Amino acid sequence: MTETRADTDRLSADLTGMVAIASINPFGAPPRPGHREAEMAADLRTRLEALGLETGLDEIAPGRPNVWGRLKGQGGGPTVLLAAHLDTVGIEGYDGALVPRVEAGRVHGRGSCDMKAALACYLETIRQIRERRLTLSGDVLIAGLIDEEDQMLGSRAWGRSGQRADFAIVGEPTGLAICPAHKGQLCAVIRTEGRATHSSRPELGINAVEHMAEVIVALSELDGCLRRDGPDHPLCGHGRFSMNVIQGGSIASAIPDWCELEVDRRFLPGESPADILADIGRRLDGVMALRPDLRVSLSDPSLLAAALDTPVSSGIVAALRRAVETVTGAPARIEAFPGATDAPNLGCPAVICGPGHLEQAHSLNEWVEVRQMQLAVEIYVAALADLAG
Ligand SMILES: [Zn+2]
Repeated sequence: MTETRADTDRLSADLTGMVAIASINPFGAPPRPGHREAEMAADLRTRLEALGLETGLDEIAPGRPNVWGRLKGQGGGPTVLLAAHLDTVGIEGYDGALVPRVEAGRVHGRGSCDMKAALACYLETIRQIRERRLTLSGDVLIAGLIDEEDQMLGSRAWGRSGQRADFAIVGEPTGLAICPAHKGQLCAVIRTEGRATHSSRPELGINAVEHMAEVIVALSELDGCLRRDGPDHPLCGHGRFSMNVIQGGSIASAIPDWCELEVDRRFLPGESPADILADIGRRLDGVMALRPDLRVSLSDPSLLAAALDTPVSSGIVAALRRAVETVTGAPARIEAFPGATDAPNLGCPAVICGPGHLEQAHSLNEWVEVRQMQLAVEIYVAALADLAG
């Protein structure tokens, strides 16, 4: 295990400063008070400029910019992107979410773990490169991206037209495990249509809610089929399916003429969204074949996030593996990340590896250990030196 030199005071100060800026994702609405991604971007830009980096802002949606900073290398080596999202989930029911506090070696507050800790680590990584007088052949890019918690507009735009990199590290909370793969996510809305009538004479109507019940029964086999008979991936396991939001009807005294069910399909690298929709569509056709009066439709994806499948043989995985083993003195864990992230959108081989644990992310008591952040900085510095030293 190597000595950690990353400065805990600076890490805590940067992180608490950023947690205090409420950058809650607006989930499709125009940014409102409390949805300060732009302020987060401006704040991060100021911090990057204070470190002497070349910086820029790219407005992705009105009032919602990505921000980046570049530490120039000597030339000739790979450019490594350290990416993190600027937004957080909401704070409903979370007392003190925006009043960051440092207690018993942990920084508490919304966004502390997911994932402003990574941004604080990236800033300290730059300082450590300077203080240790490391010369890198390639550039280090730091990116703060909007909208990861919703449609991933920031990383999608980065992949299309952002600064180019050869490798990327995304410091989502993995507990410092190395995650070169994750499933993708496809959500879609199933709608049944019926005929409304007064509920004193139900036989005169067609009950869309009752018809949805038949759809639900038919689809309730799908997750088991995927786990039993579906394809699998060495890190990601099997695809998964769940039915998670339902609404229908408008008043209890009327037979409902509509019902909508939003479903969530987690898919493996290599599975195509078109095939997934076609599979669900065939199952709906099966229900309709048994019930000719049942009218059901399937929407286009309401959410589609790509799967990640960076080869374990990639240079970025090898560099992180050596870095983790040198820094922690323990074997590196190579595993799939549980959720979908910005990583597959960045336009280069990307790996997720960062401080903190996913159990704290999105919770009503979010925190990250400063010690994890210190170790993350050592790992990032060692991986950068390995790739471009
Ligand atoms: Zn996150």
